[in-house]
Amino acid sequence: MPHSYNPSDIIRPEVLALKAYHVPPATGMVKLDAMENPYALPQALQSEISSIAAAAPINRYPDPNATDLKTALRKALIIPDQMDVMLGNGSDEIIQIIAMATARPGAIVMSVEPAFVMFRMIATFANMQYTGVPLTADFALDLDAMLEAIARHHPAVIFLAYPNNPTGNLFDESTILKIIEATPGIVVIDEAYHAFADASVIGKLADYPNLLLMRTLSKLGLAGLRLGLLIGRPAWLSEFEKLRLPYNVSILTQRVTQTVLRHMDVLLNQAELIKNERVRLHAQLSAIDGLKVFPSDANFILFRVNNAGDLFHKLKQRNILIKNLDRTHALLDNCLRVTVGTPEENTQFITALKTLLLSVK
Ligand code: PMP
Repeated sequence: MPHSYNPSDIIRPEVLALKAYHVPPATGMVKLDAMENPYALPQALQSEISSIAAAAPINRYPDPNATDLKTALRKALIIPDQMDVMLGNGSDEIIQIIAMATARPGAIVMSVEPAFVMFRMIATFANMQYTGVPLTADFALDLDAMLEAIARHHPAVIFLAYPNNPTGNLFDESTILKIIEATPGIVVIDEAYHAFADASVIGKLADYPNLLLMRTLSKLGLAGLRLGLLIGRPAWLSEFEKLRLPYNVSILTQRVTQTVLRHMDVLLNQAELIKNERVRLHAQLSAIDGLKVFPSDANFILFRVNNAGDLFHKLKQRNILIKNLDRTHALLDNCLRVTVGTPEENTQFITALKTLLLSVK
């Protein structure tokens, strides 16, 4: 062999330094770690999906433009006529497309800290620089710090999740609008948790030429189908479309999503149940001594508790999986995040949590 092949000679150093995104095994567990909708679809709708899937011509490539699905999404999500829609294999793929499109040498992606981790990871994938501006102690946007960072770094893209993950809160809308106005690049507002919040910037798209809006069907109940949306002006979306792989939304995702969207009321009713459970779970957590529970406009709740890491592992031993955020960021010391599950799952979680907290006293 003329060459000795060593990955570290070939693979970019930023990639060598990365850790792969870790998804913990969850078989048989009460799964409250990933902001999924805990409810199955009604039996009749499941049967309808079975026939639709069985009849789909899976020997053919899907419609590359997903035209019928887009029409159904426009209606179900009330998307303004003047705006274009681009579909991704989950919104993760859309973040990646935006990064690829803007990754000039030295280009900067900006977000807040703590934020959805994929903003930073995908910036690295695309060889971009990343800057995270810390939120205030109560997880609000720090407008002065953001404006200063924008003036200093001239970010090509700012991503803001609204509500934010992992903190669960909505930022102040007027602060977001000031950031959009001050930014020389684009601002992508990620409304992944829109179904659980009473706020959206969708009505602002026409007023702000550098604003784009991202949504996903994952949190609404279709996480397994992988469908994310980017909504914005044709001038931007026609550029991003050039980087979208031709058949990124499978025929099963297209057909099954269209079927489910004909029963949008089912998903919206489930979101209502989750919102009601969020109120109950929040009250129950708040009633426990020593817990600091943060407000939530999403389908998960962040709380701070002594010895969070230890508690997380003990919950796991009891088959309850939540998310440990301790030591991931200075503002998240001793913080855990729990997704709102069914009433039974939430009760199991609360009961286990109380027992464990009593036993360490
Ligand atoms: N944005 C935010 C803020 C999220 O929390 C998540 C999922 N955790 C996503 C996007 C990704 O969603 P999708 O399943 O559409 O890729």
